Amino acid sequence: MFLKSLTLKGFKSFADATNMHLEPGVTVVVGPNGSGKSNVVDAIAWVLGAQAPKSVRSQKMDDVIFAGTEKRPALGRAEVGLTLDNTSGLLPVEFNEVTITRVLFRSGDSEYMINGAPCRLLDIQELLSDAGVGRQQHVIVSQGQIDAVLNARPEDRRGIIEEAAGVLKFRRRKEKAERR
Ligand code: ATP
Ligand code: MG
Repeated sequence: MFLKSLTLKGFKSFADATNMHLEPGVTVVVGPNGSGKSNVVDAIAWVLGAQAPKSVRSQKMDDVIFAGTEKRPALGRAEVGLTLDNTSGLLPVEFNEVTITRVLFRSGDSEYMINGAPCRLLDIQELLSDAGVGRQQHVIVSQGQIDAVLNARPEDRRGIIEEAAGVLKFRRRKEKAERR
């Protein structure tokens, strides 16, 4: 499985619709300071379901919506679409390509879609957790995170390993069932 393309529209500094095509292997994003490199990574974390504003380097979630510049007014919505190549079948759906879309409006409303069909955040989380891309998003390793894993308390480290191994989904379902 690999990232095939990423589309940003009104997300952080990407006011205009911007489409990036990616190939298997390593992709390097280069550019001057403040040009939006980390915003691209934030967009990936966000579309994969990031819920904490801090996880996308924001104070509050609507900070991800283009805030305007001197020449350009702010926008009312942010949208990110991520297309994954699923020819390996790692994601448990019958599509060779899976596009996940997340939209946030200034009103606070959000929309999630899988291949254009509206869905819940939970559907995206469950789809991705089968591929080892869980809620904690250990697929994105940011600065200082390796140290944090090494220094974590054993029970926290266990959670990280469980998430990577795909066990957490079942624990979550079990907890949900027990609460009923
Ligand atoms: P560095 O090399 O310093 O790490 P970078 O390329 O990673 O830089 P980013 O952090 O991705 O840069 O981008 C920062 C820019 O994004 C800033 O200019 C900031 O004003 C802009 N930005 C962030 N959020 C928004 C927003 N909601 N609306 C408009 N611009 C935004
Ligand atoms: Mg950066």
